[in-house]
Amino acid sequence: MSARFHMFTALAVSALVALTIILGYISFSRMWEYDLIIPGPGVTEVKWLSDYFPPLKGTLGDSRVFFLDSGRPGATVSITAGIHPDEHATMAGLVMVERARPRTGRLIVIPQCNNSAYTHSFPQEATPQFIHLRDAEGGVRKIRGGARGTNSIHFWPDPEVFIHYFTGQKLSGEEVRNINRAFPGRPEGTFTERVAYAITRMVLQEKVDLNIDLHEAWPEYPFINAMGVHEKNADLGTIAALDLNMQGVDIRLEMSPPKFRGLTYRELGDHTPAWTVLLETPNPTSGRIRGITDEKLIIEGRDAFYVRAAQLGRTFVPFDERGWPLSVRVARHLASLQALMAAYTELNPDKPISVDDIPDYEEACRTPVGELLNPASQAAKGGGL
Ligand SMILES: [Zn+2]
Repeated sequence: MSARFHMFTALAVSALVALTIILGYISFSRMWEYDLIIPGPGVTEVKWLSDYFPPLKGTLGDSRVFFLDSGRPGATVSITAGIHPDEHATMAGLVMVERARPRTGRLIVIPQCNNSAYTHSFPQEATPQFIHLRDAEGGVRKIRGGARGTNSIHFWPDPEVFIHYFTGQKLSGEEVRNINRAFPGRPEGTFTERVAYAITRMVLQEKVDLNIDLHEAWPEYPFINAMGVHEKNADLGTIAALDLNMQGVDIRLEMSPPKFRGLTYRELGDHTPAWTVLLETPNPTSGRIRGITDEKLIIEGRDAFYVRAAQLGRTFVPFDERGWPLSVRVARHLASLQALMAAYTELNPDKPISVDDIPDYEEACRTPVGELLNPASQAAKGGGL
């Protein structure tokens, strides 16, 4: 081979590498933009986490906080959604922002708690960068797919062992980027601990009475279709779980394990006056038995591998050909939110909390999630954030 040929090959390979890097940069940087949110008629104010912890300002750790104030006395209930962005049914928080109208009390919703975790897809898992949901007018609402933990470009490298600062609990190193092991957070801590700290500050400053944290779990994980509660508000969980089961929404009630640290319902329950709850629905896209992970699996929730696994008794939820569509998982979260607010009001009649315009369980199950959100066309008219 001639020297000239080698030179040409080297240049061609270099150009290809440069092109790949540029295309990769363009593709990934699209996820650094905040998702479009179109506040509904109930939204009275929009703040940011940095309003509670200013060092977050200008970083991708900052996230929007929506206030839905009925103007009538009652409880303040906060909803933390998107603590783990790859648990897509937590977009029930977004549905609350875009639809709910509080009748009494005040609702505070953080639909994308760990925004940094929305800025990348799951490394080495081939998960979709975006989810496209068709809205009621035939338009498309595009939402980032996200990953479980903080983006490594915001915190790197992971330690060998992650130590929960307050208790010394030791977990594997990558958990340093899991915000649901970082609570209550600390102002001088890691990127993830600082975001957790801002959320804890919000709960304290706004005098939140009840925080409800939305999650999803692998079908082969035992804490699933479940409501976890802090022991101080066990009665709240009992009433809400009974109500849900009577509606045909089968849900297990569990106490927050006192020695499992860093989770919202454990630490916000211990460190603030708020009552705390954590909800789990089944998510076939994050489990290990799943087949191809694409938008279809996220939205339709059908997976032949899970059907087989369920037949072999390897899942903790029933899993047949109908799967677990996103609409059913979001419906479970919406029904649980309503049941918890009703139970809170029953136990605290002087502090009622209720919201209108959220579809009931059966209707939400039938409605594609994109149609529960506001049409994209409203953003074109200046209605979006
Ligand atoms: Zn989770």
